[in-house]
Amino acid sequence: MMGARHGQDNAGDRVSAGTTTGPDGGAEASPRPEGSGPLLLVFAHPDDESFGCAGVMAAARERALAVTLISATRGEAGKTGVPELDTPEILGAVREQELRAAAAAVGAVDVRFLDYRDSGMAGTPENDDPRAFWKATEGDVVDRLVVHLRAVRPETVLTFGPEGIYGHPDHLMAHRTAVAAVHAAAAPTFLPAVGAPWRTRALYFTAVPRERFLAMLDRPDGPLQDLDPAQRAKVGTPAAEITTVVDISAYVEAKTRAIAAHRTQVGEGGPLAGMPPEQRELTLSREQFVRAPLPWDDPASPATDLVAALAAATPLTPA
Ligand SMILES: [Zn+2]
Repeated sequence: MMGARHGQDNAGDRVSAGTTTGPDGGAEASPRPEGSGPLLLVFAHPDDESFGCAGVMAAARERALAVTLISATRGEAGKTGVPELDTPEILGAVREQELRAAAAAVGAVDVRFLDYRDSGMAGTPENDDPRAFWKATEGDVVDRLVVHLRAVRPETVLTFGPEGIYGHPDHLMAHRTAVAAVHAAAAPTFLPAVGAPWRTRALYFTAVPRERFLAMLDRPDGPLQDLDPAQRAKVGTPAAEITTVVDISAYVEAKTRAIAAHRTQVGEGGPLAGMPPEQRELTLSREQFVRAPLPWDDPASPATDLVAALAAATPLTPA
């Protein structure tokens, strides 16, 4: 373990976040300057990452930061419109390769799977598969995520918000377990055998402005045509709650390639299908987040991380 005791820190480094906790419970300072630590993403299906934050992933790789993407499932319940592909085993294998290609499009990304099954949309037969992610015990998922968190020791974690973009049961499960794992990983008494406690400096939820999401759903060829009115009312994030907007214009090409790599998911009925060009450009050139408070935040001296630094470079309002 590296830390202040090895004399690598300077007096200006913060000890409140991005730190491990020593055996006595005291914090050790990270030797890394702010904004230069690994990025770790927790999502549910291949393609969640590319639509939500491929630009930030590309920005991290351009800065030679390590990026680890954890996907709970292989998206086995997705629909492709190609009957030969639409069995869980075949589609899972195809989408794993699509995810690896998307990860390569933004730079070398460490891709890991938790090996659960895609639960499908609420009310579909896939919900009943005992391997379905949403049926997993949350404590088991948290334990597994803590192992990854303590091994990777990310500066920044990105995952879904509490609305799960459009309420997909796997997105909600990814949100709950990722948030719980970030907290648990920092507790010295939690699974002490799986690594030193780790405090993630910044936790963000990917966010799509609700107004924009509703406009997409209202297009005649838009996705999620069978979303019921109660679910519709809760899609996306109200613009007023978005804390962080990142201009990713410099990474649009990488993001476009990452999205296109999910070949089975981006055709007709996909989120970008039929989108007017101006709207498509806006959608692809910015990524929006809600920064979640963590118990070790120091409000008097907010720690900076990659996402905050990118957002500060070109201030934008949510749209
Ligand atoms: Zn998903």
